[in-house]
Amino acid sequence: MASTDIQQQIRKGSEVGGKTYAFNESHPPDRPAQMWFQQSDEGLILFVVFFTQACRWSRCLGCNLPSTGSIRHVDYRSLIAQIDHLFDDAQVASRSADIRKLIVSNNGSILDEGTFSSTALIYLMARVNLNLPKLSTISIETRLEYVELSELEFLARAIREGDTPTALELAVGFEAFDDRIRNQVFQKGLDLSVFERFIENVAPYGFRVKTYFMQKPVPHMSDEAAVADIHQAIDYLAVMARRFGVTINLHLNPTYVARGTPLEEAFRSGDYSPPRLRDVARAALRAEDQPIDVFLGLYDEGLAVAGGSFVRSGDQGLVDVLEKFNQTQDYRILRSLVD
Ligand code: SF4
Repeated sequence: MASTDIQQQIRKGSEVGGKTYAFNESHPPDRPAQMWFQQSDEGLILFVVFFTQACRWSRCLGCNLPSTGSIRHVDYRSLIAQIDHLFDDAQVASRSADIRKLIVSNNGSILDEGTFSSTALIYLMARVNLNLPKLSTISIETRLEYVELSELEFLARAIREGDTPTALELAVGFEAFDDRIRNQVFQKGLDLSVFERFIENVAPYGFRVKTYFMQKPVPHMSDEAAVADIHQAIDYLAVMARRFGVTINLHLNPTYVARGTPLEEAFRSGDYSPPRLRDVARAALRAEDQPIDVFLGLYDEGLAVAGGSFVRSGDQGLVDVLEKFNQTQDYRILRSLVD
């Protein structure tokens, strides 16, 4: 599909989603949009967000991630320069032997070849094998409509050629479990039947699955309803993990008020407040003794409006405790916050 057609899709999605943000046309095309380190029980994680043409879907209610991308196409040469920049970065180079997981994002879909070049993806796999000798997992963020099994098989084969066995993880945005909230209010465009077919298809290959959820993603949702929605998600994913034998991670992002979205309007008119961190602990606690892992996303990527973060004044201690949970999966830590 031509880049101009994709531009139209992005503009249409933004309009349907009531978005008022601008895209980021001033970002140097040879630099990733963002990169940072995280610690989890899997070890050191490097998270990279490549700078590409924005997410084609663009309509999800509380999401302004497309504002970090360009409305225009970013070609493969620029993406290759971004990949070189990533591995030449002094911090990445000095910690490369400790990095156990790489999360690859473009705040959209890495498997959408219209916005993320296939040439660049192959180059990325080569640099991963050359530069990250201890990598155990590479995680690729994508919407499900871009998943092709033959492409996944090829990628998995390529990363198996690295120095250590490396698993492929597909990271999929779910955001809300309730069907009405997910598809009618949040406009995610993801049916459970599509997700279940995907799980069934990837299970025989041993690919892992990460699901992104947002706690309290829409206005007019009580804190109790938000916790209950995550509990239902955990119960559902536990059933999927058992039925198909797939390793599933639930990545729980407390919602922040993203600028330029309908959530910002609701926040300003008093119809929305972000979830409280103790409720996030309460929600995640449901996964204790279930066959899924939980990671708490405690970083708003600098995209929240002033006062719209889930980290309120005086909350830094709570964030530090929740980070410890991420590093240990020790549920006593969560229990200590809710008892
Ligand atoms: S949540 Fe994901 S799919 Fe939806 S608009 Fe944001 S980046 Fe696109």
